Amino acid sequence: MPELPEVEGLVRSLKPIVTGKTILSVDVSETIIASKANGKEAILKGLDVESFRKALQHMTIESIERRSKYIYFHLMKNQLPYLLVSHLGMSGAWFYVRGLHEILEDKFKRHTHVILHLVGGDMLVYADIRRFGELRFLKNEEDHPPLLLMAPEPFDQNALDHYLGMSMLSKYENKAIKEFIMDGHVVSGCGNIYATEALFRMRIHPGRKVKRISKERKIQLFNEIVIVLLDSIEQGGSSISDYRKINGDSGNMQNRLQMYGKKKCPICNRQTLQQTIGGRTSTYCGTCQR
Ligand SMILES: [Zn+2]
Repeated sequence: MPELPEVEGLVRSLKPIVTGKTILSVDVSETIIASKANGKEAILKGLDVESFRKALQHMTIESIERRSKYIYFHLMKNQLPYLLVSHLGMSGAWFYVRGLHEILEDKFKRHTHVILHLVGGDMLVYADIRRFGELRFLKNEEDHPPLLLMAPEPFDQNALDHYLGMSMLSKYENKAIKEFIMDGHVVSGCGNIYATEALFRMRIHPGRKVKRISKERKIQLFNEIVIVLLDSIEQGGSSISDYRKINGDSGNMQNRLQMYGKKKCPICNRQTLQQTIGGRTSTYCGTCQR
């Protein structure tokens, strides 16, 4: 699943090539059309297919930014601002190509769902193998209130205080620490890989209750999450499962992971353990993490 560092990498590679480009027309896959016709909402949320296509036509991409694990395309038409919000779900990917044949991996090529044809002939293509991704056309963030509830960016000044404040709330203090840090209202963009790594680096058991961790250790843990995320951004993200960068390359972070997906603990060499916490599989060392 693409996490914050992968989304950041994607936004950084898209930014110089899509900024200022105007959308000429939009193609939507038969799969989405059929899903919408059946009252379902595969990928395209809210608007019906025709309204979506019409809305995006002649929009200019003013800028693009990452917010948590979302991509925000800031658009403009007739001097009015709009927002296209993309979440990659489990296996979504954007490709910037001249034609679909340039998408080298068959599994993505067979699952292209939205094509933005740009003035000049290039295409911005959204592919999604498992279709858990989301595309939402909005006037602004207020149009979709859940976006307003996201925790601050982990690199922002106020992010640590926000996280500490949440850790004192009764609804969180009895939660497992791993579930807590993976909650998007608490920390933005700390998915399973990075939560697993940060907890291992801190030697904290993922199932430990929030209230049983001292303030000092909570602060250290938060800083560790930031370090792991920044390190991964530096490495171009992790290429576990279906994530690919825009040019089809994969990142290098997976070579630096110490606990996620590991059979043995790199410190004590004992077999790692697995437990489901907050609905997600958690890998940890029963000896080193307490
Ligand atoms: Zn160990």
